[in-house]
Amino acid sequence: MSTELSAAGQALYPTLLSPLQAGTHRLRNRVIMGSMHTRLELLDRAIERQAAFYAERAKAGVALIVTGGYAPNAEGRIDEDAPVLDSAEHAHTLRPIPQAVHAHGGKILLQVLHAGRYAKVPQPVGASEIPSRINPRAPRQLSEAEIGATIEDIARCSALALEAGFDGVEIMGSEGYLLNQFAVTRTNDRDDAWGGSVENRQRLAVETVRRVRQRLGPEGLIMYRLSAIDLVEGGAPPDEIVQLARAIEAAGADIINTGIGWHEARIPTIAYVVPRAAFRFAAARVQRAVQIPVVASNRINTPELAEAIVGSGDAAMVSMARPFLADPEFVRKATEGRADQINTCIACNQACLDYIFSDRATSCLVNPKAGRELDFQEMPRPASVRTVAVVGAGAAGMACAIAAAERGHRVTLFEAADTLGGQLNWARAVPGKEEFHELMRWFRRQLEVQGVTVKLSTRPDVAQLRAFDRVVVATGVRPRVPAIPGIDHAKVIRYPELLSGRRSAGAKVAVIGAGGIGYDVAEYLLHQGAETAEQFQAEWGVDPSDQSAGGLKPEAPVTPRREVTVLQRKPEKPGRTLGMTTGWALKARLARQKVRFLTGCEYLRIDDAGLHLRIGGEPQLLAVDHVVICAGQDSERGLHEALQTAGIDAALIGGAERADELDALRAIDQGTRLAWTF
Ligand code: NAP
Ligand code: SF4
Repeated sequence: MSTELSAAGQALYPTLLSPLQAGTHRLRNRVIMGSMHTRLELLDRAIERQAAFYAERAKAGVALIVTGGYAPNAEGRIDEDAPVLDSAEHAHTLRPIPQAVHAHGGKILLQVLHAGRYAKVPQPVGASEIPSRINPRAPRQLSEAEIGATIEDIARCSALALEAGFDGVEIMGSEGYLLNQFAVTRTNDRDDAWGGSVENRQRLAVETVRRVRQRLGPEGLIMYRLSAIDLVEGGAPPDEIVQLARAIEAAGADIINTGIGWHEARIPTIAYVVPRAAFRFAAARVQRAVQIPVVASNRINTPELAEAIVGSGDAAMVSMARPFLADPEFVRKATEGRADQINTCIACNQACLDYIFSDRATSCLVNPKAGRELDFQEMPRPASVRTVAVVGAGAAGMACAIAAAERGHRVTLFEAADTLGGQLNWARAVPGKEEFHELMRWFRRQLEVQGVTVKLSTRPDVAQLRAFDRVVVATGVRPRVPAIPGIDHAKVIRYPELLSGRRSAGAKVAVIGAGGIGYDVAEYLLHQGAETAEQFQAEWGVDPSDQSAGGLKPEAPVTPRREVTVLQRKPEKPGRTLGMTTGWALKARLARQKVRFLTGCEYLRIDDAGLHLRIGGEPQLLAVDHVVICAGQDSERGLHEALQTAGIDAALIGGAERADELDALRAIDQGTRLAWTF
């Protein structure tokens, strides 16, 4: 694509879209696609897939891309599947990746990551023998000779990256990995030249940058990822962070990227509960201390916000990682003044981090094509234009309608309600899940852009649908109504009534059902609206001042707005279905609000006194004002059955197909993939 700015983009994002000199490299704008573990390297045609993945982002205007981490030696691998770059042969195989990015005017760095005591390898190594709570394997202390060898390994890995055609390297010095571990007393109790004084603790980071610069010469771009706030006890105080940034600059780095929080931190740093740009202050502190460009990161997902950060001088660049899974064309759309068409990352982690942690290659909830570029590129074009009817405008139906229209078909989307969205409307009502508004904005805009005919408040009958070449039924679900005596009592509220604002709850509330929606309803009952960055910092004990080690302070005391009890029938621990990398933060928030969880419940009846139940044979009464029902859903399949009876072949997708796996991730993926078969 042309990297020339359109007048629209220039007016809206003058700093973000302006070029920047970093070392000997001129970057076409201030946007970095940050490093992500993708696990694409473990799929078939791995190099081709990675080249296609990065090329698509470069083609749409990203200035600088950073790959996932490559270990400089075997003991530094993040796990036993992680790639090591330690030979010219391996470097040679990587060549198509930078070539693909360069073909579109982008630049790309290979990230060199030594995981240190986080490495899930037979014998991890570290600054000291201090274990981590997130790795059952205790580290072995590196000897001084081994430290020297590790620096050489990182320098060799960096030189190999240049040989492979990368523009340089990002040296991973944050998130609690090896270089970060050496820098702080929490994990470094050495008494030799690599421990004790701050200079000694920072020596590994500084010597590494110096040695890499020697090996790469002035041509190699070096970006150092510095931990701008550790968020762990015994982490670096702000003055040490600033001191390290200056030393890294003096040692020859061209850019300082910022990392936020160690992996073992108990504070969320990228999940949806984190307000946008909540850690901007940490990058700004570093930028004030050095002359080279500093990069702000974490929960930056719109061009407006990115422009505000670089325009204010808080940072010279912004790094976004997940937003480029959600929309590879982020930069192009901003440049062309089409930000309203950007598919925004909603920070759910469901198809990126949660996939990675369950050994799957990354993708994206809002963009199922992410990481699957080759598969979609290679699908045959439709032989003819078809008329397509999609019934139901929830996540599955809207995704299917948009993808079918994108493929050139004439699509009509029917919705019985007077508004689009289905279950997504309940998700976006939940405090902390405001990003779902962006998803709805994207759906609405894409339906317009792709020319889908939308018919709200319409229930098409079999005769109407017979006229279409293809019929898709995405009629969704009905909330399940459990057969509890008194279920029609005035105290009972169904979750859609609550989340739509049609009804409100009193001071004492029981929630029947501890699935994702039961947890969301508890959030809704206890928190009000979106949090500001300041409220988030107070709630989680993040100190933005220059005072405390690790950037921590005591959490603000909490007085819950309501007394909430969440119940389930199963005896097992609740919350097992929550997101792998976001569920813990949700649980911590509810624990702070003193939410009570009761398991093994048998519901007896609901009456004026409240909810009567039995637990372990013992009768109990919860004297509550309201009982909110979040007992799952049943599929809405009436139309599909009628179509089948009439002999009309209709596809069934989303919650209408499987209510027990109701999930926006599955719905969007299924709807999109189905449309690609038309
Ligand atoms: P769910 O996860 O299936 O949970 C339903 C809850 O209702 C369970 O706690 C279940 O536990 C209870 N239940 C089921 N049948 C019942 C009955 N007849 N009487 C009383 N209780 C009954 O469903 P959901 O909470 O509605 O969520 C729907 C989907 O959206 C799920 O796939 C969920 O993962 C997803 N979601 C996820 C999140 C998140 O991760 N934060 C948020 C919202 C939604 P017992 O059977 O033990 O009582
Ligand atoms: Fe963002 Fe969710 Fe997509 Fe991950 S899966 S990139 S968090 S929208």
